[in-house]
Amino acid sequence: MTSPAIYPASPAAQTRWILERRGLKNKVDPRRAYASLWEEEHDRDGAGVSCATLFLTNSECPYRCLMCDLWKNTLDAPTRSGDIPHQIRTALSELPSAKQVKLYNSGNFFDPRAVPPEDYPAIAQLVSGFERVILECHPSLIGESALRFRDMLNGRLEIAVGLETVDPVALAQLNKRLTVEQFWRAAERLAKNDIDLRVFILVRAPFQNEDEGLHWACRSLDVAMEAGARVAAVIPTRGGNGALDTLAEQGQFSPPSIRSLEAAHEYGLGLGKGIVYADLWDIERFCSCECSPKRTERMARMNRMQRVCESVYCDKCLQ
Ligand code: SF4
Ligand SMILES: [Zn+2]
Repeated sequence: MTSPAIYPASPAAQTRWILERRGLKNKVDPRRAYASLWEEEHDRDGAGVSCATLFLTNSECPYRCLMCDLWKNTLDAPTRSGDIPHQIRTALSELPSAKQVKLYNSGNFFDPRAVPPEDYPAIAQLVSGFERVILECHPSLIGESALRFRDMLNGRLEIAVGLETVDPVALAQLNKRLTVEQFWRAAERLAKNDIDLRVFILVRAPFQNEDEGLHWACRSLDVAMEAGARVAAVIPTRGGNGALDTLAEQGQFSPPSIRSLEAAHEYGLGLGKGIVYADLWDIERFCSCECSPKRTERMARMNRMQRVCESVYCDKCLQ
């Protein structure tokens, strides 16, 4: 029996509701990263830092967040030992050299079903030439294995955490099993153990209107920076995973305007505390006005320069 259309309150019912709305996964090869790219990030002073970004193919994340679409490129079974090192070796051989590497895995690097711990030494060896190694992980899964992996690296470890939003109402409904308190504890643990923190923040999470979406993105940036984040990335919430599309039909979710993303980016940079990026991947889907390309270009410039750049004014948007 399928759940009622209305989004339920209990976590178990939310998980069912979200799963029932999913489409099919993409076909992925357990021996190959499903994507990889070379990109340039920028330090606080705007200096370019080359980065090899790998999107590893591995077992699906055990969480079932309302806004997540990362499950699309994951495996149902646990990742086999040896497959992740093989993926990294192949992907790196196909990319130009870089200073830092991102090993993103559509979930949690320290989930043993996703990345078998017996592969850590081989992975550490493969990334031994990088100055910085960036992984992603849910705060609840950052424990002893993170410290063991840190000790195997030559470069510095940075862990990216999806804080999403500090709006207590929306965060509780994301089915992320995360509170702001847990985020703080994880941030403290990372700082104490000499591991850098990167934070992902949604602009206009589900159940927020446009003003609330911007307001809570700014408050989330406050928390991220107070918690010592080296980097914060503001990400426009994207539909397309089934669950968000149902919420959109019910008027409980709309993607943010490009202006809100831009304003959150500007706010974060104005704090002057850490690196702040706006996620511009697939940004065309948020472009709704003739000023949108100019705003996109401005955010790309702010990503590069790491300072607030001259604003764009539009007669139609009246801002
Ligand atoms: S923890 Fe991350 S990868 Fe896992 S379901 Fe949530 S958003 Fe997706
Ligand atoms: Zn406009």
